[in-house]
Amino acid sequence: MLEHDVLVIGAGLAGMRAALSAQEMGANVAVVSKVHPVRSHSNAAQGGINAALTDRGDDWNDHAYDTVKGSDYLGDQDAIEIMCSEAGQELINLEHMGVIFNRDEQGLLGTRAFGGQQKARTFFVADFTGQAMLHVLYEQLIKSSIRVYEEWFVLSLIIEDGVCCGVTALEIGTGRVYVIRAKTVIMCSGGVGRVFEPSTNALIVTGDGIGQAYASGADLMDMEMIQYHPTTLKGSGVLITEGARGEGAYLLNSDGKRFMETYAPNMMELASRDVVSRAEQTEIDQGRGVDGCVYLDLRHLGEDLIRERLTQIVDIGQDFAGVNIINEPIPIRPGMHYIMGGIKTDVNGRTNIPGLYAAGECACVSVHGGNRLGANSLLDTVIFGRRSGVHAAAYAKEQGFIKFDVQSYIKGYDQKLNSIADRQEGERWAQIRNDLGKDMDQYFGVYREESGMQNLLSRIEDCKRRYEKVVLQDRGTIFNTDLVFTLELGFMLDCAETIVTSGIERKESRGAHSRTDYPLRNDKDWLKHVVVSKTDNGPTLSHLPVKITKWIPEERKY
Ligand SMILES: Cc1cc2nc3c(=O)[nH]c(=O)nc-3n(C[C@H](O)[C@H](O)[C@H](O)COP(=O)(O)OP(=O)(O)OC[C@H]3O[C@@H](n4cnc5c(N)ncnc54)[C@H](O)[C@@H]3O)c2cc1C
Repeated sequence: MLEHDVLVIGAGLAGMRAALSAQEMGANVAVVSKVHPVRSHSNAAQGGINAALTDRGDDWNDHAYDTVKGSDYLGDQDAIEIMCSEAGQELINLEHMGVIFNRDEQGLLGTRAFGGQQKARTFFVADFTGQAMLHVLYEQLIKSSIRVYEEWFVLSLIIEDGVCCGVTALEIGTGRVYVIRAKTVIMCSGGVGRVFEPSTNALIVTGDGIGQAYASGADLMDMEMIQYHPTTLKGSGVLITEGARGEGAYLLNSDGKRFMETYAPNMMELASRDVVSRAEQTEIDQGRGVDGCVYLDLRHLGEDLIRERLTQIVDIGQDFAGVNIINEPIPIRPGMHYIMGGIKTDVNGRTNIPGLYAAGECACVSVHGGNRLGANSLLDTVIFGRRSGVHAAAYAKEQGFIKFDVQSYIKGYDQKLNSIADRQEGERWAQIRNDLGKDMDQYFGVYREESGMQNLLSRIEDCKRRYEKVVLQDRGTIFNTDLVFTLELGFMLDCAETIVTSGIERKESRGAHSRTDYPLRNDKDWLKHVVVSKTDNGPTLSHLPVKITKWIPEERKY
């Protein structure tokens, strides 16, 4: 029997941080990941991680204020205070574990500016910060001998008498279904990026954990808050880090004008992401774009700085857009990047299901509200990953393993997977996934409105009907990625439905949720969270108040 006190789903930054802290508490911990840990999507993070270090004359209260303002006052301020006040110590912990952050000329940890912040407080490793952090945490994981179920695909959570007590999982290499029992499960399965097409996210980011938690009765919150990043390459959607603007790159329209002067005269290119993305989209929509894009211009930064601090995007520009960014401006457009919402948790990672915790991009604590500041996500993963690990381990100490009929779960899933493999006629998963992604991009873009979202919802329902008949080409058991992609699509469709249902519900514009039919923020009616839960009749909506500690909502200007 496979069983652990704490089972962490996901080996990205949130998952590994959670696993390490749970083990430090004395728990027997294991991690499940559908890919090798260092292939987790955190690997792609480029620009850096925020922290206010007092020896730089910075103050965590200022970081918290910038985060609250960036969130368009939808972030819960108690959670934001925790994240920002614990950031400095966590950054030092990471450095001591071995993350080699860039240094400044005095040999101190160096910072770069990021959007929506009054101070340069983003610590970085060139433009591959996530990769550096992920590899160091993986070393720690190996050192601690935590078991990793590598290339195991979690199929569902097991809930008995309302308590989460394990998972069913597919060992991808053999095609066998297992039950892993656990006293607590921490969901750290990442975001929903590929529900949209294109997206800056890796192909594996398919909302599995959010879908599984939702199916098991967990509340989801702020699902309508989808972030469009201002600088993604046309077509492929590959990200050009905000670090480029942090180092001083300009945004230009077809007239060669730095158009951010019009939209954010103080912060210019470093206004918060929602503001910059809307500005770009407006320029494009009003005919001042170039082939659906505007330009990001780094030429004035000089080759030495670009090569030292933005190494990766030199290659990205060349390989994905055929542009030498040292000599030419890059055509970019806003592209789907991040979900601020997710599985609703408290500040210790607890969800509304006893025994189920969540952390990282799949969770909504909520520290990002309507719009996440660049470099606050890596911080979120390590702060709330660590806190979830500590609290889940403490909870597990008080619990015994819940007994249930393991074989019936295995048999049930075997039958389900066989019934998919037995289908003879129907569509392939790829066509539905592609249609879904394109529809989400079209009708749930930088700007959205009621009729487009209603149309989108009925198209998602249509995709759900088509999904019931998906056929496989590979009916084997060994590394059947055809089956894995099909299973992922089911979770993607549920995530899409909750995103759009929540988007229709919020009848105002706040943060990333910009509605042309309700163009203004409306604090009187909508300074509240939208919560979505699954019932037999489909998604059901409710509201929760925003927690305000000391920053009273005011008009947002950059
Ligand atoms: C290109 C890019 C650049 C970014 N740059 C920055 C940056 O500079 N700074 C910043 O703060 N943020 C950045 N972000 C955001 C940030 O990288 C992510 O939000 C964060 O890394 C997510 O970490 P995570 O641990 O929650 O999830 P992930 O790293 O996505 O890990 C998810 C894990 O869950 C596992 N998993 C998922 N489903 C299953 C399943 N069914 N069964 C088993 N395992 C499963 C996966 O295998 C994986 O191990 C960037 C994002 C992108 C796309």
